[in-house]
Amino acid sequence: MTSKAAAAAKYILAYLSWPLVFFFGLTGAYFGFASAHPMVAFAAIYAGAVLLLFLVERIIPYEERWLQADGETANDIAHTVLTKGLVELAALAGVIFPMFAAALLQPIAAMQFSLWPSSWPMLFQASLAVIIAEFGLYWAHRIAHERLFFWRFHALHHSVTRLWVINTGRFHVIDSLFKIALSQIPLYLLGAPLQVFWWLGAVTAFIGILTHCNVDMRTGLFDFVFSTPRLHRWHHSKDLREGNTNYGENVVLFDQLFGTYFNPDRPSSTDIGIKGQIAPGFVSQLTQPFTKDGVRQILGLKPKRG
Ligand SMILES: [Zn+2]
Ligand SMILES: [Zn+2]
Repeated sequence: MTSKAAAAAKYILAYLSWPLVFFFGLTGAYFGFASAHPMVAFAAIYAGAVLLLFLVERIIPYEERWLQADGETANDIAHTVLTKGLVELAALAGVIFPMFAAALLQPIAAMQFSLWPSSWPMLFQASLAVIIAEFGLYWAHRIAHERLFFWRFHALHHSVTRLWVINTGRFHVIDSLFKIALSQIPLYLLGAPLQVFWWLGAVTAFIGILTHCNVDMRTGLFDFVFSTPRLHRWHHSKDLREGNTNYGENVVLFDQLFGTYFNPDRPSSTDIGIKGQIAPGFVSQLTQPFTKDGVRQILGLKPKRG
């Protein structure tokens, strides 16, 4: 390929990669959910999208420096597996011990309303779910930045010095549970069916790997509706005037409504990270927010003497 043709190919890739991963991912999910093994099919599609982004990161990286290892890959994967695995384990326990699960969930099930518009086409039900869940996600995320009690858990996610597809799921398990509670319990109480939760999970999964990938994507008008890599990079900025913005997980509606939408006309920052220190190992990263000295480290304060 001539250098001109290569440049043209990269240009097209920059514009196509976001819609390609998002819309093809969701189309794949559509067929996956209709198959005999919906969760296995979805996991395969998701893994394919991660691999694709991993490759595109090497072709058109946003920041060359972020291609280099930071020693955190194993921790990133361990946090992802733990937080995702915990939800799977809860579901598995429900299958293995149905009586126990029924006894535990019965009081919650009794509170469930039947307000959910189950007769709507799934596209509208899923879109409604994304917006309702986003209200909880937005506030969980904003509180995690504005309240020190919650920041101690969320700082782990912001401690990365490179953004790439693999650190999408680097969340402290408490941070994740807080977000899941605020976003999914309202849907459950409204009586949303299981399929709606699948779709919400699919949208969150694809938007998530897109927002963190180190691909020089052009997202144009998508920046005004969805949480895109461009917007989320600002959110990871060390400069808090830039970083305490763009809290949206999937869509940016509530950032626009509550005045935290940030999309200036310049390339988003690559100076990312936090002032404090995160512990080096996986287990100490989990326990750090529970000790006084650990919290002081996270906040970038000196340990107290005596
Ligand atoms: Zn954040
Ligand atoms: Zn992030």
